[in-house]
Amino acid sequence: MSEYHSLSRELYGEPFAMFLDYINFSHYGQYEGKDEGIKKRLDEYGDYEDDVFSIKPFCWCEVCDGEGKEGETCPRNGKPNFHYKPTDFKLNWYKYPIRGNDCNKDITPIEFLEMITDCSRSFFDFD
Ligand SMILES: [Zn+2]
Repeated sequence: MSEYHSLSRELYGEPFAMFLDYINFSHYGQYEGKDEGIKKRLDEYGDYEDDVFSIKPFCWCEVCDGEGKEGETCPRNGKPNFHYKPTDFKLNWYKYPIRGNDCNKDITPIEFLEMITDCSRSFFDFD
């Protein structure tokens, strides 16, 4: 099992919300822009993915919200809510970014800022 880590919402919540605003995502993690090229990077559930990162909003189905019957599984894939591919950093949250989160690595605030800067760049430069 991997070690449990968590980001302070107090410290990382605002920069992450700023990142979502900048790339035209709602504060749930859903793309709200109108760019057709960007829309092609969304899957059937509206989850975003490019070569550098992916964002999957919290799934509100009964199973993911802990109300499912025993053995029931979510039809959506098991992707993390946020995945930064170059360092394989994975972040999950409960309902809203980055509430009740857990992640697979300890990172510094500077690494976090570099990561969302790189994501922003790839988001707009992707072709
Ligand atoms: Zn679900």
